[in-house]
Amino acid sequence: MTLPGTATIAGSVTDALAACGVAPDRIGGDFATRTPITGGALPGATGDDAASIDDKISRAAAAFPAWRDTPAPVRGNLIKRWGELLTEHKADLARIVTAEAGKITSEALGEVQEMIDICDLAVGQSRQLYGKTMPSERPGHRLMETWHPLGVVGIISAFNFPAAVWAWNTALALVCGNTVVWKPSELTSLTALAADALLGKAVAEVGAPADLHHVIVSDRAGGERLVDDPRVALVSATGSVRMGREVGPRVAARFGKLLLELGGNNAAIVTPSADLDLAVRGIVFAAAGTAGQRCTSMRRLIVHSSIADELVGRITAAYGTLAIGDPEAEGTLVGPLINEKAFEGMRRALDEAQAQGGKVRAGGERVLADEAPEAYYVEPAVVSMPGQEAIVTEETFAPILYVMTYDDIEDAIAMNNAVPQGLSAAIFTGDQAEAELFVSSAGSDTGIANVNIGTSGAEIGGAFGGEKETGGGRESGSDSWQSYMRPATNTVNYSGQLPLAQGVEFV
Ligand code: NAD
Repeated sequence: MTLPGTATIAGSVTDALAACGVAPDRIGGDFATRTPITGGALPGATGDDAASIDDKISRAAAAFPAWRDTPAPVRGNLIKRWGELLTEHKADLARIVTAEAGKITSEALGEVQEMIDICDLAVGQSRQLYGKTMPSERPGHRLMETWHPLGVVGIISAFNFPAAVWAWNTALALVCGNTVVWKPSELTSLTALAADALLGKAVAEVGAPADLHHVIVSDRAGGERLVDDPRVALVSATGSVRMGREVGPRVAARFGKLLLELGGNNAAIVTPSADLDLAVRGIVFAAAGTAGQRCTSMRRLIVHSSIADELVGRITAAYGTLAIGDPEAEGTLVGPLINEKAFEGMRRALDEAQAQGGKVRAGGERVLADEAPEAYYVEPAVVSMPGQEAIVTEETFAPILYVMTYDDIEDAIAMNNAVPQGLSAAIFTGDQAEAELFVSSAGSDTGIANVNIGTSGAEIGGAFGGEKETGGGRESGSDSWQSYMRPATNTVNYSGQLPLAQGVEFV
């Protein structure tokens, strides 16, 4: 496959940045950006130093009272307009996502669609920030809970969802009355500038306070400033478990609020009654799609020993047909890894897996190295393991699917749960009892547990997040909006008397 030249990619990125309305002074700076498609340099961004980060946090804090006092349904109007602009510029933003994160076009468009979807959800939510009322034990009293905005929400995001994760957080944080400062991945600064510019357009058009959103172009140092700044009421951080281990204690030390969305190590169990045609499609998309660079990518397959040979044969055959290469070319299903570090991580994991008794059944080789020596394209790998060895319990952010076998469903569920991470899991089965067991409290211990569908590709309507080392946070739909607000319990006495709770007598 022929790859496009870096100059061609840079040209189309420059056009897309302009179409999204990125201010010229934010481009051409010395903060390096690159494309994993060729490994070549894209137009630099203008970085933020400590003073400018401090200024952005100050401005967001100063904008908070006016936004807090804006009625929530009026705040929803901003999100409505933002969603319209995202729809209008879907292809522009997706082009930059593809250039910087290496996603194939349909997945990059899907990422922007997720942003549009969360806007829809958040607009509706703006009229549904419900508090409960409950009966008071005292006559002539009303007892209720009301939800209030927090202040500045700091968002730290990862390279692999360079815009959608920010949108999940931002759409809800804004309708809930907060202001936002975002530190995107240093690998995807241009996507961030474009996404933020579209929100900026919506802010200007509806006449909302200009400072209610800011983006910081920085390496992790910018994230650390958000983490340590007491003006940032909530830190919502998405990335590796390593990052969460550093961020968590620092935010806790200042009693800030924290929402963590960290790594996964997602398994699928395939039982003898499964529809194997459907299972193969679900597994191949989840394991090889996005070149294995989703937090929900399938990394472990726990297959009943009676069907293991057939299933692995079908998966390896399907892997042989995957088109690997230019993510913008029609027909490509697997784009590049993000960088050399990711490739080295994959190579190291494959070496360790073999040292621990694994056998590579398909893939694992680098391709297109002659054409693009600074880009890292790989064949997704399938590796049979004798059991759930040490390497299998780690998240390697690359397309490696480890295969283990089981004989008893209880053992398969135990194996599913026997890793430190707890994001997503799936079972492929035609047996209703097995499906129910898997989604029950005695089943998968993950935040997402699916039946007859892979581990990746969540919808924004349901809460997204995971347990254990995945961090415990929830974003997107369901009740996740409550993470961006603080509940206050109010007792209102209209009785003219002062009865005390629990029958206490006093003056
Ligand atoms: P990463 O941890 O290297 O970086 C994520 C972000 O954290 C970046 O913006 C980075 O600058 C910042 N950061 C790193 N160290 C920091 C620190 N000490 N203080 C403050 N900020 C810091 O992750 P990545 O390589 O960009 O992304 C891949 C990882 O993210 C994988 O582990 C993946 O599973 C995870 N992820 C999780 C979810 C989820 O929702 N659970 C979603 C996407 C990605």
